[in-house]
Amino acid sequence: MAATLDTTLAGHALCGTVPSEGAIRVLSALEAAGLEAWFVGGWVRDALRGAPSHDIDVCCSGSWQESAQALSAAGIGVVESGTRFGGITGLASGERIEVTTYRVDGFYTDGRHPESIVRASSVEEDLARRDFTVNAMAWHPERGLLDLYDGRGDLRRGLIRAVGEPWRRFEEDALRMLRAVRFACRLGFAMDPATAEALAACAPLLDAVARERVGVELSGILATGRGGEALERYPELMCAAIPELAACRGFAQQSPYHIYDVYDHTARVLAAAGEENTAPSLMWAALLHDIGKPDCFTLDEHGRGHFYGHPERGAELAEGIMHRLAQPAPLIREASLLIRYHDRPMRAERTNLLGVMRLFAGTALDTPRLMNELFDLKRADALGKAPSCHGYIDDIERMREMVRELVANGEAYSIATLALKGRDLIAAGVAPGPGIGRMLDRALEATMAGEVPNRTEDLLAYLLSE
Ligand code: ATP
Ligand code: MG
Repeated sequence: MAATLDTTLAGHALCGTVPSEGAIRVLSALEAAGLEAWFVGGWVRDALRGAPSHDIDVCCSGSWQESAQALSAAGIGVVESGTRFGGITGLASGERIEVTTYRVDGFYTDGRHPESIVRASSVEEDLARRDFTVNAMAWHPERGLLDLYDGRGDLRRGLIRAVGEPWRRFEEDALRMLRAVRFACRLGFAMDPATAEALAACAPLLDAVARERVGVELSGILATGRGGEALERYPELMCAAIPELAACRGFAQQSPYHIYDVYDHTARVLAAAGEENTAPSLMWAALLHDIGKPDCFTLDEHGRGHFYGHPERGAELAEGIMHRLAQPAPLIREASLLIRYHDRPMRAERTNLLGVMRLFAGTALDTPRLMNELFDLKRADALGKAPSCHGYIDDIERMREMVRELVANGEAYSIATLALKGRDLIAAGVAPGPGIGRMLDRALEATMAGEVPNRTEDLLAYLLSE
């Protein structure tokens, strides 16, 4: 493959961003074959914002066969990736560049639409079927920016706005509603009023979308750290994505600890957690931490609400919800554990903290990270309650610091972190067999209780002197 670029297309920039060498090679190869090609979508949007982009998409007047031929003729490798949707991937300068044929449909993801693509005759037609104005711009190094829907203005105004009639676009493909929220969260944008109205009105259409696609978009929203805003601003849509959330909306807690209903509290907790840490396990746990509350509500004789058992019920429900949304099994386990322990009383006291760490360690997960996330969740939970509960945050930070020290000091909280191994006992003359396991358990109890340091000789001496 030629390493140099002998094209007039190189050297042009869009707001200071220069397309990658591979992208220019692909564009030149297509145009050298007499086709018309443009850079489109996310790259153009991000370049105009002065933000980095992870990839660059090209759209082209040729059929996928014509595009493939043009690339091959220029010595560029071709993968026939999405030929059903008119797409190929060019392999140029170590990059993968997606090339799609101008088309009038093909983005529909709800299964209601024909699988074959209908080719469009112009780039203008191709742009018309794209989802949002900020995603519907094309740029060419020589022909410049093609912005038919004032995407640039919306970038300046910080608005996500559907191309065309929003409700019609959401009817065509309901997944676009979650994409709208994902882009708004990611870019920190507001929703154009007509688009926002359609999001609320068309929310029930989300039922037609495959749950794993909903799951992908939801994790995309959570990854922005602004899931709390999504809950607050687009409740109809978020409840359509997770119907269990609907029971939380307007569910009064009738408790002096709470000034918000379960749903608004959840939104605040997710927002507070997302400001600090966007780890997927923490985000999912924050989103679903109180999902068990409506099922567990009781009112006592003083008219006070209680939610006994809601962490366990929540963990159970969260597993079902995340499984339905095709989330990975380890993520489900971690989120469900965080939910299970989010309300557990804890003290800044060695044995108490090691006991909680032992619960996490028993599941063979990364205990120090999960403990940190548990404190993030507890902190966010406290921030989402009545101001009288905010004082608990100092305790949480004290506990977080103590756990950090316990880990740094090499304290044991599991058989794996115990400084004594079965082979040490055998070397010391203990007969192999189930007795070894019981001795290790006793050593763990003793060191966790502070009776003996977590050091091999000390643990051995302790056991052999018993
Ligand atoms: P990202 O940085 O997340 O990849 P992107 O804008 O590149 O952002 P993609 O999902 O990769 O988003 O899609 C590329 C482009 O294809 C979008 O910018 C948009 O123009 C168009 N597009 C993608 N999905 C849809 C859809 N469901 N409906 C309409 N247009 C879509
Ligand atoms: Mg993209």
